[in-house]
Amino acid sequence: MELSNTITYVSTRGGQSGVSASQAILQGLAKDGGLFMPDRIPKLDCLPEQFAQMSYQETAYEVMKLFLTDYTEEELKDCIEKAYDGKFDTEEIAPLAKADGAYYLELFHGSTIAFKDMALSILPHLMTAAARKNKVDQEIVILTATSGDTGKAAMAGFADVPGTRIIVFYPKGGVSRIQELQMRTQKGENTSVVAIHGNFDDAQTGVKKLFGDEGFKEELAAKGFRFSSANSINIGRLVPQIVYYVYAYGKLLKQKAITAGEEINVAVPTGNFGNILAAYFAKQMGLPIKKLICASNDNKVLFDFFATGTYDRNREFILTSSPSMDILISSNLERLVYLSAGCDAGKNRKLMESLGENGSYQVTEDMKKQMADFWGGFADQEENAAEIKRVFADTGYLMDTHTGVASAVYKKYTASTGDQAVAVIASTASPYKFSRSVMEAITGEKSQKEEFALIDEMSAASGIPVPKAVEEIRHAQIRHSRECSVEAMKAEVRDILEVS
Ligand SMILES: *Cc1c(COP(=O)(O)O)cnc(C)c1O
Repeated sequence: MELSNTITYVSTRGGQSGVSASQAILQGLAKDGGLFMPDRIPKLDCLPEQFAQMSYQETAYEVMKLFLTDYTEEELKDCIEKAYDGKFDTEEIAPLAKADGAYYLELFHGSTIAFKDMALSILPHLMTAAARKNKVDQEIVILTATSGDTGKAAMAGFADVPGTRIIVFYPKGGVSRIQELQMRTQKGENTSVVAIHGNFDDAQTGVKKLFGDEGFKEELAAKGFRFSSANSINIGRLVPQIVYYVYAYGKLLKQKAITAGEEINVAVPTGNFGNILAAYFAKQMGLPIKKLICASNDNKVLFDFFATGTYDRNREFILTSSPSMDILISSNLERLVYLSAGCDAGKNRKLMESLGENGSYQVTEDMKKQMADFWGGFADQEENAAEIKRVFADTGYLMDTHTGVASAVYKKYTASTGDQAVAVIASTASPYKFSRSVMEAITGEKSQKEEFALIDEMSAASGIPVPKAVEEIRHAQIRHSRECSVEAMKAEVRDILEVS
């Protein structure tokens, strides 16, 4: 490998640089609380025509090798093969479904039926390879906050992986019934699940605090443990997410839906800003993407941000029918802010300090201009339900409540701009994962029925077989019942690791 291809990682807050990809993956969050960024965004070195002929796995290698430059070809291909295998229910891994004039990129064919599987089926392999490469002999403890889908997908990936433990914190009452059952029935001797008395932001802030707690880290290191993160702040999640945008473009070209070089629009249901940031990286790498349509639910912090340049989390936290997007602090936005500031870490750090202290910050006009590729929109719960109902009635295509938000916002985008470019809408979960809300949307009424009765009704109405992931939990035993307050998260970790 030529030295000039090497990419190293820097903290968005300036405190770390020259970090290899494998070290950045092991570390998760930078020591100064910043997020790791590649020192530059590499350009794709294959043509669209070449991508059109590639399998998902081949595309994954071509994209990921550009960022993870300290992994050997053999290591990376081994990780890819182990990740994108029969756990997915289709060889295509991420199929495109055409409905209602757009292409729904289905990212939910992995083992936990949400898009988090796309990155979390490979992260454990990237991380254990990184531990070997860096001669880490401590047990890796994955600490993860989840708005519902990351937790299950991370546990599915890390369950019984030697040398690792995983602890997941989810907001009690803030996830769907299926999401909660999926997590609480998780198998694996090394998995732990804790319901916290708070919302997702409380869970995420609590986990970040533990990462920043040097005393606690030293205490655990003495007992043979080291923390890492499976949250979308880990560069090892962001990079695998770029792959499916490149893959989708190749697929569209192969189907002759576009010509080589033709620009497409991408709409993404957004929470922590990880998925849409991956699409932005794909654009920076040279993939012909025109607009990145950032779709929010009623927690429309990002819509307001793109409209005004002010990020303000000081507002009511609303629990919605798209719980994986119920987030007021979109962590990955920090990476866009950093890029928009011309990679000025000092500038970014000041803004993030302001977010920590006041719950808000304002970017400059110039930075706002740098973000012009994004178009922010939102759909409230009624608009979301109406969109799911309409598309199902018109086309027979049934989408979940997160995809519904993106679909409704995409319609607002075309109505307001007239832009008719071919569009890819990220479809982030199976409708079965949010069966109650989806059934209420298509029938137009609340139901008292039990969850699995609704699931059977959904199957009858849509003709889509009930996924294995849902059948598995129908009768599974509850294995996790831990709960704690936000203040007690540290004590809970001590208890789980038996270091008290
Ligand atoms: C996590 C999640 C999202 C939000 O993705 P981000 O990368 O956090 O913006 C949207 N939909 C579903 C189903 C999810 O699980």
